[in-house]
Parts: sequence; C-alpha cells; structure tokens
Amino acid sequence: MGEVMMDKSLRPTAPRNEPIYLDNFSTTPIAPEVAKAIVDAWSLPGNASSPHTMGARAEAIVAEARRDVADLIGAAPNEIVFTSGATEANNLILLGVAQAAVEAGINKRKIVLSSIEHKSVLAPAATLEGRGFEVILVPANDTGVIDMRALAAAVDDQTLLVSVMGANNETGALQPIKEIVAIASKVGAYVHSDCAQLVGKLPIDVLDCGIDYLSLSGHKMYGPMGIGAVFISASALMPKALAFGGGQQTGIRPGTEPVPIIAGLGMAARLAASRMDLDAAHGTLLRNTFLGELTRLNSDVEIITQNSETLPGTVCLKVDGIIADDLVEIIQRDVSISTGSACNSGQVFPSHVLMSMGFSQVIAKSIFRLYFSRYNSKQDAIESAFILARAIDHLRRPTGQARQ
Ligand code: PMP
Repeated sequence: MGEVMMDKSLRPTAPRNEPIYLDNFSTTPIAPEVAKAIVDAWSLPGNASSPHTMGARAEAIVAEARRDVADLIGAAPNEIVFTSGATEANNLILLGVAQAAVEAGINKRKIVLSSIEHKSVLAPAATLEGRGFEVILVPANDTGVIDMRALAAAVDDQTLLVSVMGANNETGALQPIKEIVAIASKVGAYVHSDCAQLVGKLPIDVLDCGIDYLSLSGHKMYGPMGIGAVFISASALMPKALAFGGGQQTGIRPGTEPVPIIAGLGMAARLAASRMDLDAAHGTLLRNTFLGELTRLNSDVEIITQNSETLPGTVCLKVDGIIADDLVEIIQRDVSISTGSACNSGQVFPSHVLMSMGFSQVIAKSIFRLYFSRYNSKQDAIESAFILARAIDHLRRPTGQARQ
C-alpha cells in the first residue's frame, strides 16, 4: 500500500493540547450545563432524608431529577431508582428479579440474553447459573443484531426474564426491542433492556415499548460518572434489593442519595430531551464526513455493521492487516479511540461481542470503534480521518521498510 496522499489543506495544522476525543462509547464528556448543575447542588449541604429546610432542598433536587429522568424515557417518577451506574442497575435486575421470583414461588428458571450483552449483564447471569437458573445466550448475526429466530426459539413458558440491550457499546448496532417484547410477552416473560448507550441519544418510551426494566448510565449521556438509574415498571415484579440499610428509595436501593450527581443526571436528561434530534444529526454528519475522508485515503476499511441501524455518530471499523490495539496506541497522542479487547493477566483477549458475531480472533483484533459526540467538530472528523489513515498505512508497511 502506498504512502497516503493527502490534500495539504486537510493536514492537522494547529497544535493541540489534547487528543481529539472519539472514545465516546467508553464515556462522554460532561456537558457544561451538567457541571454547573452539580456545582450548584453541591454549594449547600443537605441530606435528602433530613427533617429541615436544607434536607427539603436536597429532597426537592432529587425529586426534580427523578422527574427529568422519568420524562426522558416515558416513565413515572416512582418507577425510577437511582443507582451508581448501569453496572449496578443491570445487577439489580438480573439478581434481584431472580431472587424475587424464587421468594414469590414463581417456578420459571430460564433467563434469555443476547451474547453481545455487556459484562455487567453476562456476569450476574453466570452467577445465577450456580443458583439453579438456566441461562441461554442468543447469538447475534455478523452485523451485530440479535438473531430473532434464535430468540423466538429460546423463549418459552419457563422463561422468567429476557435481557437484550438497546444499542451495543462496541458496534453501535440497535437491537429490535419492540419485537423482543412481543415475543416475551406471549409467554409472560419479563423484559429488561440495558439502554446505557441508547438513552439520551435516541428516543425510547418504556410504555410504548412495553419494557419492564431498563438500565441507564449518566456518563454515557454527557452526565457524571458514578450515577445511573434503573426503570422498574409499576406492573413488573419488584426485584429484591442487593444491599440493606436505611430506607432510602423505598429500600430497593438504600444509601444516602448523592444529591449533586443526581442533579447532574437530571440536567443531562433534560438537555438530551431538548436536543436529541440536533445531536443525532450532528453525529451522523461527522460520521459521514469521517468515513468519506477515511475511505478516500484508505479505501479498504470495512464498516462491520454494514447496513444495520446504529446509534448516530458511531462507527465500528475492520482494517485487514493491522492489530487495532497497536493503532489505538500509536495515535493516542492525537486521537483517543478504543477496541473492545480485554486484558486479563497480561494477555489480550478479543472482544466477546465481536467473537460472538462470528469473527475469528485475528479479524476481531483488527476491529476498533469510535463515536462522534455532541462536542466533536467537523474539523475533528477530518483531522482524525487523516491521522488514522496515516497510522493504518504505517502499520501495514512490511517490516524492514522503516520510515526515514
Ligand atoms: N452497559 C453498557 C452497554 C455499557 O456500555 C456500559 C459502560 N461501558 C455499562 C453497561 C456499564 O455502565 P456503568 O459504567 O455506568 O456502570
């Protein structure tokens, strides 16, 4: 492959202090409005359970945020429980619903998940296997969408819970939640959706979808880290709490409410609702600009989701002949991106999501993802395409052809 021919006008010019941040699947920047809401809430002390004016102020902040989060997904405020993030929300639903079923004498012992779920769904499900539950993993096709025929075959009258994410955190591929609910509801199975990546980016209405449980995360929607929420439908089985203490949040998630970051999550929800279409159009524009530039410079990159619907602004690319982790490393001073690989005991394992989509280990290791956020610019898209193209070209050079 030849040297990347570059239109000089597109070369990065201005020195930058920080890399162009495109690792928005991992975490999004905090919105300035959110940062302000956090500082404002933190400007005065107050425990939402305290019986005085300052306690009432804290309680009102929490109540307002609960309403904002509920409004964003079409829920009622009393169906929202704040958690430390989507990991805790997912654990609460998987473990808590299973335990509630056991205690209520419900004999269904089957849990159906997609194989591309986040580990915070897969790991608690694996724990349940040791408690007498059967866990069935439904594969995804090679574009990252759950195989609906396999799902329909897996779900039966012994199924307690079906858990399928709204959008995948490596490919951006959207999952057919409404169709999943239609299948599950025929046999009376509850449906949970880990919507950590989807909420705030695309509209979702829990009533319209008929979902029983939904998880979301602050730091995936321009909110703070360390806060998230779970929607528990008023008509669904109430999960058993995982922790015990004071009676906050009706005991389902006890512990002093972290008022400032709850305020931040509320603001993030309100902002998302007010500019979702704008953000989506912006993300799509930057993604298309980036892909246009990159394919002009390096024609043999492949979008692994092909024509499947994805979150606006996301792109997951396969580049034959490279190791994506090497690419991430050599461009890190200029651009932040990541792969789904996991490092255990010093060994790098390819992503379980990509492997379950049918890619070989070698191919899975050549795949990386990026995500153009609300705060990226068109210049970011153009510059990052150039930087990636140059790095890909460098990685593909046969050894021995060192640059002079
Ligand atoms: N689910 C998905 C789909 C995610 O992308 C993430 C974060 N990578 C999580 C769950 C965990 O979220 P949190 O960091 O809020 O625990």
